[in-house]
This record gives sequence, structure tokens and C-alpha cells, in this order.
Amino acid sequence: MTAGVLQLPAALLLSSALAALAVWKRALTPGGTALAWLLCVIICLCGGLPAFLILAVTFLCTVGADRLAGERADPHGLRRKSGRRDAVRVFCNVGLGGAALLLGGLLREPGFRFVYAAVLAETLADSLASKLGPLSAGRTVDICTLRPIEKGLSGGVSLWGTTASLLGAALVGLLSLLFGWPLRRAALAALLGFAGALLDSVYGSLLQVKYRCPVCGSLTERERCCGAVTGRVKGLRPVNNDGVNLLSNLSVFALALAAWAAEK
Ligand SMILES: [Zn+2]
Repeated sequence: MTAGVLQLPAALLLSSALAALAVWKRALTPGGTALAWLLCVIICLCGGLPAFLILAVTFLCTVGADRLAGERADPHGLRRKSGRRDAVRVFCNVGLGGAALLLGGLLREPGFRFVYAAVLAETLADSLASKLGPLSAGRTVDICTLRPIEKGLSGGVSLWGTTASLLGAALVGLLSLLFGWPLRRAALAALLGFAGALLDSVYGSLLQVKYRCPVCGSLTERERCCGAVTGRVKGLRPVNNDGVNLLSNLSVFALALAAWAAEK
């Protein structure tokens, strides 16, 4: 289990390089950068170079998709939180992945690397879907009701977004082959990540709070629209996009642990 992990100086160097890139690209708030740096050190120390590469690629693709999509990921300004990622958002997307590798390191249980790969596959699949999905001209439907909804709203799925999500999960699966895994295991991690991204849409549809604007009548995740206070129509008030991401990461964590136990 200890084979292939990085020594402290290498871990510090790689994590600082990634954090510097985040600062340079203005992708994270200072708090988000600090937490990301700490998580990256843990990930390097407990998961080695393959784990670092998975994290770095997930980060780069997310920032790239952000830049590519720009305002178009949320064409109607329906999402409550946008812009730079703070510590809460970093934790909700990568925290459980870091926790999995830390547990794996402490317990000397290689199954937690599998959990890490599946969780990061979910994170990348979900970010690509939510950023690139709204760019397509095709229909966006609510994953639960299958009725058309506004692009950019949580719970919406489109063909292009689902394809982007599948590619993101597959990319992390490919990188996880660097752990020396058989193809079947890497493919299973990717599949769990993809399933987690679909679950993320289900949670987004069912649990995430949504409001109706009394002026323009659109469904929104914001508490104000058109200068008026919006009224809640569905979802739970405390559940925002970060909560949904954490919940889907938790689901993938549990599913991956169960899959590992079943494989053994
Ligand atoms: Zn409005």
C-alpha cells in the first residue's frame, strides 16, 4: 500500500504548484486555495502521483470548462452561487476524495483509492455536465419529470451535458489505470462516477431549493429576481448546489465502498 506514494517534499512542491495555478487563474478564493492545497498534500502523500494527476486533471478541466462556458453555463442567471470556488465548495467537491485517501493511508486499505477515483470521477463528470450542458442547442429536461426546464437549472439534463459527463468520468477512469489496476476496476470507478453525476441531477431536481419569480414567472435558484422577492415552489431551503454536490459525493463514496467489498 505504501508503494507509489509521494514523499513530503514532492507532495509540498506539487501542491504548491497547483495552488499557484489556482491563484494565477483566479479559480479559487484565498480560503478555497488554502483548503485545496491541504487536500492536495494529503492526496499526494496517501495516493501518490496517480492520485495527484487525477486531482490536477479534474481541476484543469473544471477551470477550462468554466472559461469555455463563461456566462453561457447559466444563460438566465438562475443559479444562486457562481464565480470563484470558496472553501465550502472545494470541500463539497474534493473533501470526501481526500478523506478517502487519508483513511486508506491510515488503515492501509487499498480500497479507498478506488473510492477516491470514483468520487473524483463524479466531481469531474458533474462539473463538465453543468458547465458544458447548457451550451448545447438541444432540449434540457428535468431528470425526474422529463419535462422541459430552463437551461442551467439544477436537475436538468441534456444529451450534450450527459455526454460531457460520461467523457469526464471516463477520463478519470483512464487516469486511474496508473494505479496499476485492471481495466475492469478502472471502468467500474468511471461508471460509479457517471452514475453519481446522474444522482446529482436527481438530488438537484428533488431537494435543491427553487423559487418562482412573481414578475417574469421563471423558475430560479435565487431569492430575488426582477427586483422582487421570489417564492419557494420546491426543494428544501438549506439545500444549495454545494449541498447537492456533497450528497452525491457521499453517495458515490458509499457505493464505491460497497462495490469494493463485493469485488473482494
Ligand atoms: Zn424574474
